[in-house]
Amino acid sequence: MFVGRVRLLSVMTAASTARAYHIGTAGVPWGKEEVAAWRAQFATPKRSYQGEVVDKIEALRESFEVTQYGALPCDPERYPLFSLRTRSWDASKPCVLVTGGVHGYETSGVQGALRFLQTEALRLAPHFNILVAPCVSPWGYENIQRWNSDAVDPNRSFKPDGAAEEAQALRRHLLSLGVASWTCHVDLHVRVNPYT
Ligand SMILES: [Zn+2]
Repeated sequence: MFVGRVRLLSVMTAASTARAYHIGTAGVPWGKEEVAAWRAQFATPKRSYQGEVVDKIEALRESFEVTQYGALPCDPERYPLFSLRTRSWDASKPCVLVTGGVHGYETSGVQGALRFLQTEALRLAPHFNILVAPCVSPWGYENIQRWNSDAVDPNRSFKPDGAAEEAQALRRHLLSLGVASWTCHVDLHVRVNPYT
């Protein structure tokens, strides 16, 4: 029994050592150098935002009102930000918001939001105003990362002075719609990835 505990502690210590990150110093906040070193690891995207997300949005233009509500400063051409709204928007109906890809590596959230638009949203449109932002953090999607390109977690940035443009652009977009109260917000944080 005692020997077993000692072995367990040894394994835990080894595991802690193995988790030490290769950039920066444990317990010391990153500066610009560390962020630049981290970002340099992602010179080549691992998958295509255009092919896996934007092309699917384009195919939905006939059924939904598509709005480009911003673009990521790190590469505005490559990373336009889109929402899709039901066309029968009516102030008398409850408003529903669906967001996917706040964490770009959560593939199922992005593809699930798109699948919802493809399969169910129109059926619900007579009863609800529905707005879907299927991929809030497209740089994170392409690079299969939780953080954005500045090593900031977009999910911690929806406050007024939040650091991530992914969150700020969506926040401005939602405020511009003048919705007094969202009846429901489904934020899809689902990570079932074929890539990781
Ligand atoms: Zn998440």
